[in-house]
Parts: sequence; C-alpha cells; structure tokens
Amino acid sequence: MVEHTRFGPAGVPPMFRLLGASTVDTPRLLCEEGLDAFEYQAVRWGPKPQIKETDARRLGEEAKKNDVKLSMHGSYFINLAGKPEVVDASKRRLIACATGAEWLGAGVMVFHTGFYGLFEKDYALKSCIVALKEVSAEMKSLGLEVKLGPETMGRRSQVGSLDEIITINREVEGTQLVVDWGHLHALHQGAFKAVEDMREVAEKIERELGIQVLRSMHCHFSKIEFTSQGEKKHHPLDDQRFGPDFCLLAEVILDFGMHPTVICETPILDVDARKMKEILQQMQRQRQIQSQG
Ligand SMILES: [Zn+2]
Repeated sequence: MVEHTRFGPAGVPPMFRLLGASTVDTPRLLCEEGLDAFEYQAVRWGPKPQIKETDARRLGEEAKKNDVKLSMHGSYFINLAGKPEVVDASKRRLIACATGAEWLGAGVMVFHTGFYGLFEKDYALKSCIVALKEVSAEMKSLGLEVKLGPETMGRRSQVGSLDEIITINREVEGTQLVVDWGHLHALHQGAFKAVEDMREVAEKIERELGIQVLRSMHCHFSKIEFTSQGEKKHHPLDDQRFGPDFCLLAEVILDFGMHPTVICETPILDVDARKMKEILQQMQRQRQIQSQG
C-alpha cells in the first residue's frame, strides 16, 4: 500500500453531534467528507479505560471499513516529572489509555509528558524517560502494540521541546514521533514565518531520527495565539491574526516526500481539516503542472 498524507479532526466534530450522530458514526461521516484520520479524545481518562471494549472495537471496525486511520489523545492528567506518587498515577493512566487505544486499533496514543516544576530541565527529562521505559516494558508484557506518542509542547513550563521529544524517541522503545506545529510556533514566539523555518525542523528530525521517521510523523496543526509563556489559544485556519500558515507545512510535506497524519486541532475541526487537504492537493497539482511545463 502506498502511504499518503491523511487528514482528520481531534475529536468528534460539533456538527456531527448536532446531527444526532454518535461516536461510532464518526468514521463514516468523515469518509463522506473526504477525510481519513480521526483522533479519539481520551483526555479525561483516569486509571481505567473509560470506553467499553465492545464499543471501542466497533469503532475500530468502522474506521477500518471507511479507511479512517485512528489515533488516540491520551489523558491530560499525566506528569512523568512529578513526585513519585504523581508519576505512578500517570503511568497507570498511560496504561489505561494504551489499553483503550489497542481496543480501537489506534496506531499511536498521543500524550503530554510532564512539567518541569522545580526540577532542572535535564533532571525532569531523565525522570520522564525512566518512567516511559517502564510504561513501554509494561505495555510489552501486556501485549499492547500501540505506539506511545509524546507530543511537542507549547508552554515553557512543559517537558516537550523538539530536542526533548527527539531524545525520548531515541531512548524509549515503542515510541512514535508526534509534532504539534502550533505548539512549536508558540513555544518559540512565532517561529514559523517562512518555509525555511519549518524545513529546519524537518532537517533536524531527518538528521536525528532518519527519513522514515520524518516521513511518517504524526502531526497536530492549528493556528495559535501565544504569550511570553507560550501557547494561549487555538484559532481557525483562516484567522489571519495568528500563525503558522498551513501552506508552509504543505510545502515541507511535498519537499521531503512526507506522508504524515495531520490532525486538525482548530475550533472548527473537520472544516479546517478539509481546508488543509485542499491546500496540499492544490499545491501538489501546481508542482505537477510546473514540472511538466
Ligand atoms: Zn495534545
């Protein structure tokens, strides 16, 4: 199968709910819209999966039937750099999310790694890596094959700079690269102004993790508002007040022959996911015409 760039929403689009659809209808409705990815939101989960196994498996089957690639956004209540009891509770939540994700047949379970708190950055990162290695080993013993997806984060208080995420991906078995472009933009105070700015990120990933990891990355994308501390609020694609411009990422996707999954995290989830897909396809057509001419 030839891999291709996929687009989809982070969570069930509000319009689907208004139409009376339930979560299990989501893959079919996304397919009808021309979308082919869906990130299931398990962001409030505690120490146990909060979906019934039968429901999860049914959703997984629907996704397969409609060629929608599933991922999961795991619990927000994770801090692998906290006190021992906080880390233990976080590990239990990660295992619960990974179990649910496995039922769904999701490829990756995305999560926020932790907060520096009063720790030195290096020490916080090391704590996260130790904890994640334990989670990864436990998942292996439980037969859970879903990948752990620590995400690049948008606030100065959070573990998850690009370098930190690359280090985690190198050191912890069973991880998948997850790049939130909006977060990186916010963390670095509006980093992405030109294609070169995103190309630098892609080149660094290629250098550190290899071309295949770059090409198959899992992404989050949104326009983003930030303060000196980083991420503040997500905004729609058409909001000209904020960056980054999706055209920049589209250029990089084509330049590096990438086939990422792009999850739209703007407030108008599926509508903007479709817009991103159109931008990429249009750019692809233009390049084909130019190369023929
Ligand atoms: Zn996230």
